[in-house]
Amino acid sequence: MGKNRIHLSLAKLSGTEIEYIQQTFSDNWVTTGGPHVALFENKLQTFLGDEHFVAALNSGTSSIHLGLILLSVKKDDVVICQSFTFSASANPILYQGATPIFVDSESDTWNICPIALEQAINSCMLNGKKPKAIIAVNLYGMPFKVDEILAISKKYDIPILEDSAEALGSKFKNKQCGTFGDFGVVSFNGNKIITTSAGGILVAKDKEQYDKAIFYATQSRETAPHYEHSKIGYNYRMSSVCASIGLAQMEILEKNIAKRRDNNLFYRNLIKKIPGLSMQTEPDDSYFSNFWLSTILVDAKKCGKTNTEFRLFLESQNIESRPLWKPLHMQNIFDKYPFFGLNIAKSIFEQGLCLPSGSNLNDLEKSIITNAFLNFFIK
Ligand SMILES: *Cc1c(COP(=O)(O)O)cnc(C)c1O
Repeated sequence: MGKNRIHLSLAKLSGTEIEYIQQTFSDNWVTTGGPHVALFENKLQTFLGDEHFVAALNSGTSSIHLGLILLSVKKDDVVICQSFTFSASANPILYQGATPIFVDSESDTWNICPIALEQAINSCMLNGKKPKAIIAVNLYGMPFKVDEILAISKKYDIPILEDSAEALGSKFKNKQCGTFGDFGVVSFNGNKIITTSAGGILVAKDKEQYDKAIFYATQSRETAPHYEHSKIGYNYRMSSVCASIGLAQMEILEKNIAKRRDNNLFYRNLIKKIPGLSMQTEPDDSYFSNFWLSTILVDAKKCGKTNTEFRLFLESQNIESRPLWKPLHMQNIFDKYPFFGLNIAKSIFEQGLCLPSGSNLNDLEKSIITNAFLNFFIK
């Protein structure tokens, strides 16, 4: 990783990763599953709340895929998905041969809009296809409108798959994100709030679903001395080496959350001085975001400059920033599928920028960033 460059979001190591990895090597457990995977699952269960069941898998994407399988999503089914998200939220719908229906965001949390969601459901029902699942995302760590979305899920009896890949440690009304859906997913990819290098979890509501997840994730092997299969299996279980990294990372999770929220506060104070800039914001104190990434909106009409101009300026200062997720209904692979909404996500995308938000961001870097903001917008 480039020297002197200020990065968007790098992994922060606790320092004990090697010890846990060493232990797994000493145990000669250099494979999937095993004691460290079980321990990592326990730690996450304690973190999320003991009534939940945590299956450690090899990525967030495979966790979403397995969630859809456990929700019986099959060929020609319809699945509703928040449009404003990373493509990995929706790709597994296509793995199953099902059809995605994309739903816009609302401007408070930037997540799935309850009104557009209900329109999408009603339209599907009119076409004789009740959606099999709703994929709701806690984007950049911000909880979606949990009460409204769960009420719709209940009203129409459609399960929620909560893509909380970016939101470990975020809360709504003091309850952990990832635990609101019928299934929840967290990612431990390298740039997330903690990492296992690659990995994810599927959070289930009961032991039976947990057992099913592990069954499918380990090639759907039936109990028999030989390899007996009656279901399609997947190789989705987490490696013990990855779980070892995760055990070390759990030790700094709370610290990382505090640091990322602190970064966010830093930007919030900084933009007060600059007209035309705003941020993704917790609507009220029911919402607690881990602020995995801090994001701004640049209103070109008010500040005379665009998000792209600012991104290129930051790049010239060796500061990494990145456009927001391009809504999926605007992407080539997804634009033939139905979309419901008023293009709020599109307008957020067109003005937005992700800023350096790493758990390592230091005071010197913050002062360089402050100068960059002031030089670009004020001078
Ligand atoms: C990172 C991410 C995923 C995928 O997780 P991986 O572990 O990279 O497979 C899914 N959804 C969202 C919103 C993400 O940010």
